[in-house]
Amino acid sequence: MIRALWFLLKVAVVIAAAIWLADRPGTVSVHWLGYAVEAPFWVALLVTLAALGIAALGYRLLRGVIRTPQRLRRHSRARRRERGYRALTQGMVAIAAGDAPTARKMARKADGLLNEPPLTMLLSAQAAQLQGDERAARQYFEAMLERPETAFLGMRGLLTQAIKSGDRVEALNLARKARGLQPNTPWLLSTLYDLEAQAGDWAAAEGTLQQAIQSGAIPTEEGRRHRAVLLLERSFEAERRGRADAALSHAQAAHDMMPGFAPAAVRLARLQVAADRLKPAAKVVERAWRHAPHPELADIYRTIVSSYDALTRVRLFQKLVRQAPDSAESHLAVAQAAIEAQLWGEARQHLNRAMEIGPTRRTYRLMAELDRGERHDEEAAKDWLAQAAAPEDPVWTCGSCGAVSHNWGGLCGHCGAFDSLTWKTPTVAVPVMEPTDIPPALARPATA
Ligand SMILES: [Zn+2]
Repeated sequence: MIRALWFLLKVAVVIAAAIWLADRPGTVSVHWLGYAVEAPFWVALLVTLAALGIAALGYRLLRGVIRTPQRLRRHSRARRRERGYRALTQGMVAIAAGDAPTARKMARKADGLLNEPPLTMLLSAQAAQLQGDERAARQYFEAMLERPETAFLGMRGLLTQAIKSGDRVEALNLARKARGLQPNTPWLLSTLYDLEAQAGDWAAAEGTLQQAIQSGAIPTEEGRRHRAVLLLERSFEAERRGRADAALSHAQAAHDMMPGFAPAAVRLARLQVAADRLKPAAKVVERAWRHAPHPELADIYRTIVSSYDALTRVRLFQKLVRQAPDSAESHLAVAQAAIEAQLWGEARQHLNRAMEIGPTRRTYRLMAELDRGERHDEEAAKDWLAQAAAPEDPVWTCGSCGAVSHNWGGLCGHCGAFDSLTWKTPTVAVPVMEPTDIPPALARPATA
């Protein structure tokens, strides 16, 4: 509607102008270089307007011609970028799909098309790693160190490579440098803590652990356990240096932090026995038994009560049953004391209960001992010992490499993992190791 009105208005203006001109007739005459042109005024006006129109058109054409190369250049740059980003995307998809040759090809292509080293270097490094070319990947990661925006990523790549190749000294070095770049990165804190613990740098590990818990990299409950393990390791170290008091106080702190953690209770009770503090040692075992009945606790308890006569020993062991009545360990511990006291009925009753809860080879061995002791029945004893179907007894098992040990330690003696041992029944044949006090990174050359 408005358009129609606008059009009518324009037509009206043109008509009015035409009428105005028609009402005022006249001529325009031009004398130039000996020529004389005479025309009515309205013709002269039309010619002038047409000349102006042609001049404007010519100017636009000329400008277009002059700007063409610049436009073409801009267009081809945009196309290059587009192709570069497409190659980058294809490269990343290839990485995700595990297609190393395509990833590398696309990385090279993107590198040639794009002027974005932070993006293409990472892709190139990942592609090289996927193809197993760790040397090339290393070169890319090192190149990334030179730019502030990629330095941390480069450091992470080198750190991962060092951990993978088992070079813990180099890994620790890199992790410490990376912490200088970004101090509160959760994955870095937990990695650094792990490396420091594996290197036996207990004090540094404790500081990093604290930071890792605060940043949420390690859950609080898991952090408590790690701290207890670190304290135990410091206790071992203090003992090696002949500082009995420090050894005892670290063990006490570990036990206070996790009263149900058997290794801490065993360690503390052992040190207390060595210091001739039998009563507190007995309390430690009884307290820990409630949460974690464990044969090593039973062993130390046997030492603690050894000065009593056999009958009193059985009575004291029954305290443990009251702490954890549903644990086979409780009944095995009393049964063993009862066999030593030649209380055969008592022993049999507890062994039967242990059988009900879940027999292991140790249960059968005690049954054999009972039949040998009570009835001098060698045949029955042999039968018990031949019970091949009985599950193996639990052992300390490394969650990282699967190696087993009869003794607990903070570091796996097979793979060097820190705080990786749990008390459980082995399911397959596994290497046997002794936990180590000496960090494997320093004890032997790094292996994968
Ligand atoms: Zn291990």
